[in-house]
Amino acid sequence: MHTLVADHPLVAHKLTTLRDVNTQTPQFRSLTDELVTLLAYEATRDIRVEHVSVITPVAPADGVKLSRPRPLVVPVLRAGIGMLDGMARLLPKADVGFVGLARDEKTLVASTYATRLPEDLSGRDTFVLDPMLATGGTLVTVLEMLAARGAASMTAICLLAAPEGIARVEAAFGDDYPIPVKVVTGGLDERLNERGYIVPGLGDAGDRLFGEI
Ligand code: URA
Repeated sequence: MHTLVADHPLVAHKLTTLRDVNTQTPQFRSLTDELVTLLAYEATRDIRVEHVSVITPVAPADGVKLSRPRPLVVPVLRAGIGMLDGMARLLPKADVGFVGLARDEKTLVASTYATRLPEDLSGRDTFVLDPMLATGGTLVTVLEMLAARGAASMTAICLLAAPEGIARVEAAFGDDYPIPVKVVTGGLDERLNERGYIVPGLGDAGDRLFGEI
């Protein structure tokens, strides 16, 4: 498993405003959207392409196009939905699956309440959208679902990660794991607190994107 922490001043700038307790939902949403597009640029670096040629107005040119079958993007409900538009902007033809997981606030264990994924993911690059990689329990569950369906590669895009979450994903998908597994994050924070929140983090990403319901 490979972890990439985005090292870019624009990402750091947007992330700083996102963290700010005074940033309200409309700006939080648009910053999330912009950050995902920046992170998706890195996350799709190894996406599978095939060689094609086109005729320009001047001459033939060699190029590439995304391979079939199409990539699959999987936002994790609820907060991952806030990342979908930013990802779809870069991969407009990708299919979209959904997984819903809810975290028990006492045990911090996540349980699945919704799944809408293709049964067969053979040959498909998959991209999981989840803003906060905290304990890693949710992400490991989703990646295991994709692996069980035969995904060719799995890349998670997170706005922020905690060392504990990265370690858990690394433990589940070690170096000898048979398919490429990657986590791309906008930042790697210090730790989790006793409630499983990332410190300093940005609070509850779902609440900040969609309100406390
Ligand atoms: N989920 C969140 O929304 N925020 C955290 O800090 C951890 C998990």
